[in-house]
Parts: sequence; C-alpha cells; structure tokens
Amino acid sequence: MSTTLAPIAILSALAQEQRGLIELLQGPSKVSHAGRDFWLGHLHGHKVVLALSRIGKVAAATTATALIERFGVQRMVFTGVAGGLGRGVNVGDVVVGHDFVQHDLDVSPLFPRYEVPLYGKTRFDGDVVLTTALFEASRNALSDPHLLQAYPAAKVHLGLIASGDRFVSNATESKDLRAALLAAGHDVLAVEMEGAAVAQVCHDYSVPFAAVRTISDRADDSAHADFPSFIDLVASKYAQAIVATFLKTL
Ligand code: SAH
Repeated sequence: MSTTLAPIAILSALAQEQRGLIELLQGPSKVSHAGRDFWLGHLHGHKVVLALSRIGKVAAATTATALIERFGVQRMVFTGVAGGLGRGVNVGDVVVGHDFVQHDLDVSPLFPRYEVPLYGKTRFDGDVVLTTALFEASRNALSDPHLLQAYPAAKVHLGLIASGDRFVSNATESKDLRAALLAAGHDVLAVEMEGAAVAQVCHDYSVPFAAVRTISDRADDSAHADFPSFIDLVASKYAQAIVATFLKTL
C-alpha cells in the first residue's frame, strides 16, 4: 500500500473534540471494531480514519493498533488536551509533542527509571515531518484572533510530553512529578494519559506519529474545574482549526 493511498488516522481523546471533525467528514462511513467506532471518509482532500483513543495508555494503544492492523493507516496524528507542567505553559496554550515519556513506568533497579524495558529507550520521538507540519499548523491556527478570543496571549510550544494512567490534579503531585522527571533529565512541558502509548505502538510498526495538546489545566487542584466547557469552547475549536491547516499543508 502506498503512503498516499493509505488513510491518515486522526485520534481524538474526547468525543466533544471529535464531533467537529465528523461533521466535516466527506462520504462518512462508520465501522465498529474492538468495541470502538471508526469513521472513514475524506477530510480536506485526504483519506482519513477518525477514532477516539479512549482514556489511558492501554485503551489508546489498542485503538492505535486497530488503526494500523485493521484500517492500514500509515500516518497517525493525535489531538487532545493536557495539563501544563512546564514553566510558562499556560491554559489556552498548545503543546506539540517533540517526544514522549511514560511518567508512571518504573522498572528500577532492573532498568533505569522511566526506561521502557527491551526497547533500550525512555523517550519515543514524534515523526519530524508530521511534527513540523503540526507545529506550523498550530502556529498558523493560533494567529487567528477569532480563535484566540478567550486566551489572547496563547502560545505554541514544542517539547516533551509525559503520559501516565493518572489524571494529575493537585499542585503537590504535579510539582513532584515535574521535579522527578527533571532530575532524570526529562524537562516535561505537559502531562496527559495517552500520547506515549500511541508513540510506542507507532514506533513498533514504523508508523509516523505526531501529537498536539491544548492545555486545559495546570495539573493542580483546580484541574477538573470547567473541563467540559473548556473542551467545547476552546479545545475542540483549536483542534478543528489545527487539523484543517495541517491536512491542507500535507
Ligand atoms: N472529563 C472527561 C475525562 C477527562 S480525563 C470525561 O468525562 O470524559 C482527562 C483527559 O484529558 C485524558 O484524555 C488526558 O489525556 C487529558 N488530560 C488533561 N489534563 C490532564 C491532567 N492534568 N492529567 C492527566 N491527563 C490530563
């Protein structure tokens, strides 16, 4: 299968985010598989499959594997929300993943902390071409004052994203998490629950992967507040604009 004919997977973490993409899908058809719905069709001239990762590393890895094995996708892009951990990474900003680490993986002392056993590595890289395109698309989308109404000073960052099976929602936990990762040489910008798992699956299959996250919270005690309305009012609109610009430039 050639890369141009193979569909691009667009993974969303949450249904509210995916809705806007499904509405724009041309010639949509829905296939149910592995307890999930996959939406096939065309978006901005590209053959795509839209899917929900579901929440957490295992669920996201299953979705990613199904996209590759069953739907033959050869490029994968993730859009979602995340907690801001890095200094200056604020609510309303966007973080594009340069690489990905699992913050809750610890097989020490057998392997160095955070290292994924049998891979000999701790961080999985985003694909350079897709990541660059996603970064440019994010900068482009966020130059639209319309989109920036709620967060006029929003910035786009490129850096390390940490994933783990935990919604980080208190200030002490978030500070400790950042400090522990930093002590091991991992300067993390954002924390979420799926990216590093999808990156590992894509690494296994040599499928190029890139991810973009809108910062919904600071992973502190108010992380859960206004979460649904933030997704509806801000994150889903960012995702739609970024995906549109991204697909047009591919
Ligand atoms: N309220 C949602 C559940 C959100 S779970 C619902 O009802 O469905 C959190 C999701 O947002 C996950 O997909 C995770 O990747 C991301 N996320 C946002 N902020 C996070 C944080 N502070 N810690 C971990 N994950 C976070």
